[in-house]
Amino acid sequence: MQRGWREEPAAAGGCQCGAVRYRVAAGPAKSVVCHCRMCQRATGGVFAPLMEVPRARVTWDGTPAEWASSDVATRGFCARCGTPLYYRSDDTVELMAGTLAPPFAFRPFEQIAVESRHGWLDGLDALPRIATPAGYAVRSNQAPETPVGGAA
Ligand SMILES: [Zn+2]
Ligand SMILES: [Zn+2]
Repeated sequence: MQRGWREEPAAAGGCQCGAVRYRVAAGPAKSVVCHCRMCQRATGGVFAPLMEVPRARVTWDGTPAEWASSDVATRGFCARCGTPLYYRSDDTVELMAGTLAPPFAFRPFEQIAVESRHGWLDGLDALPRIATPAGYAVRSNQAPETPVGGAA
């Protein structure tokens, strides 16, 4: 297998509202964290956690909207709720790992585009860790998680 690719179990995921869901069959995947400015802007986060798989291994329920963010890649998202879902080329799709349902199959092996990496990430692990208080509840409008191996 090529560098960074390793065998991963089947996975599933989708957008917040449930209009777009996907399943990934078990097989080789390559997971990275990308700090580039395009990923920062596309996700609204400070990096993109990307799990790359061959497009043929992904099945979709619902149709993602797409926008060509460059001449080499297209980014997919839910047109209804706005969740960023992937970055793709002709052959592979790099799923946004935050959209994966548990158990999380995302195991990054390297960070890329580190010239744009936010410096405060170096100290992230040293920040206080605050759990959500017991009994704290909001009424979520999010769709249930897509069960891995179950029906979409
Ligand atoms: Zn959605
Ligand atoms: Zn990037």
